[in-house]
Amino acid sequence: MAPTTARTPETVGRFAPSPTGPLHLGGLVAAVGSFLFARASRGRWLLRMEDLDRPRVVPGAADDIARSLERHGLHWDGEVVWQSQRQELYTAALERLRAQGLTYPCACSRRELLQAASAPALDDANEEDGSARIYPGTCRDGLPSGRRARAIRFRVEPCELTFEDEVRGVVTENTSEAVGDFVVQRADGVAAYQLGVVVDDAAQGVTQVVRGADLLSSTARQIHLQRALSLAKPCYAHLPLVLAPDGSKLGKRDGALPLNVLSEASVRATLGQALEILGQPFSAGSPAEMLASAVEGFDPGAIPAGPVKPR
Ligand code: GLU
Repeated sequence: MAPTTARTPETVGRFAPSPTGPLHLGGLVAAVGSFLFARASRGRWLLRMEDLDRPRVVPGAADDIARSLERHGLHWDGEVVWQSQRQELYTAALERLRAQGLTYPCACSRRELLQAASAPALDDANEEDGSARIYPGTCRDGLPSGRRARAIRFRVEPCELTFEDEVRGVVTENTSEAVGDFVVQRADGVAAYQLGVVVDDAAQGVTQVVRGADLLSSTARQIHLQRALSLAKPCYAHLPLVLAPDGSKLGKRDGALPLNVLSEASVRATLGQALEILGQPFSAGSPAEMLASAVEGFDPGAIPAGPVKPR
């Protein structure tokens, strides 16, 4: 019999955009960063469309993002996964949480939560049903009489949760103080972002979550869910936020340049800009050549931990 060689577990990274508009520079930085981490470990790099939030999904945006990735030389492995086709997985996970007594129905509307909150809003890109504020626990011990269940919340016990981020270092959060019990199924019956991401990263065998710093504040919640569902914890790296020239957060809404309209020369310039933001050296050439050289010389230690203003 041939001797068996020990196989190191494969690295699996992913880019998981929400198809709510065309790719812009901030999204490209997340795509390039996750690609470099995965490819530098000779791992796979997956593409998952996070299209659960139907009202915010823009028709055609997913195709548009996929084409922009390809034009920038970012070719993913395997089929694109669509969250909208995976409701059964989320329902099964919700049932496992419910069976352990870890979730409860919540009657609070977004408006009520905003009114009740004296607490400041969190900087949370995935605010759902007012969950970007600290939940005061109104429905924790049962629905107030006469009230109807809307969302389902995950019960967080007070504890310090610590994880290591490959860019930010050690991060500690007491989620019960920072966020409170959080939504895992929205009032419209759709799985919340926090649940979908955890279920899918595990189902797809993702070992590396590399994404924008705006999601750093979601990570502790996701680790709570991984623990409750006995899922493996991936490693995390949160990439610098890209700022607009005036120092404000660069976003789709404030006119950030959509990358689907770029000329061939601009594609190379934008890819170069993304690599510079990530602090990575590269050689000039086609997008594929630029990326290959950046993979070759990849230095995660050179990724800035703070926000970056592109040149
Ligand atoms: N779909 C999320 C977004 O575009 C990213 C999810 C993730 O990378 O965990 O903001």
